[in-house]
Amino acid sequence: MEDAGKHPGRDLTAGPPSVLSRFAVVLLDMNGTLLFGGDRFGPEQDYVATYRALGGRRLAAGVVQGTIAACYETMGAIYEDPARCDSFPQVLETLRELPAGRDLPEAELQLLERVIAAHELGRIPDAYARAITRLAAAHRLGLVANILSRKGPWLEEFARAGVLHCFATTVFSSDGSSIKPSRKLFDRAVTALAVPRAEVVFVGDSLRCDIGGATAAGLATVWIDRAGHGRQAGDPQPSFVVRDLLELVG
Ligand SMILES: [Mg+2]
Repeated sequence: MEDAGKHPGRDLTAGPPSVLSRFAVVLLDMNGTLLFGGDRFGPEQDYVATYRALGGRRLAAGVVQGTIAACYETMGAIYEDPARCDSFPQVLETLRELPAGRDLPEAELQLLERVIAAHELGRIPDAYARAITRLAAAHRLGLVANILSRKGPWLEEFARAGVLHCFATTVFSSDGSSIKPSRKLFDRAVTALAVPRAEVVFVGDSLRCDIGGATAAGLATVWIDRAGHGRQAGDPQPSFVVRDLLELVG
């Protein structure tokens, strides 16, 4: 925990796991917080194998590999641009507008969209599924997640892990055109839960997207500093710091 005295009116001196006990609602980030192993993008990735596994036949290997790489690179650059956090594009739209994608048939673009989702999806480990279940016994839970693809495969993964019912609301960035740190996503979750902001804490692993965004939305925050490297000068200031979600649940 850092700078415990910076939030007047609330005693932030107690460490985890008691940190969460003072909040009725816990909003959770997804990737790197409770779901891992996603975002398998890069030159070493065999997008062609995924395309063929999904039934793709028409496109040459180089076209598949190059188009997916260009799409991920384009969306990645927009993701890092703070000016674009409320005008973030959809995968299919991005594929259509790429020079490499312009002449491809719609059915092929939709297959490539599924290839991207397959490489983006991670998994909720059993220990984290148990932690979410324990958290849900004492708090109302919400999810506020940044993803490029449409949310279907993630909802299926939450159901597989047995935790979908634990969340009173789920906000996925790809439902609209905003991504964290846009406060619109945090506001959407708070509005859906109809709860005073003082009763809400946000837990996430990205200082820029989670801690910066949630703080701007008037929420207390827990930063998951997975690498243990701490903050740099100028980084957003979390209310609390832990190394792992499991630490918070006890
Ligand atoms: Mg994250």
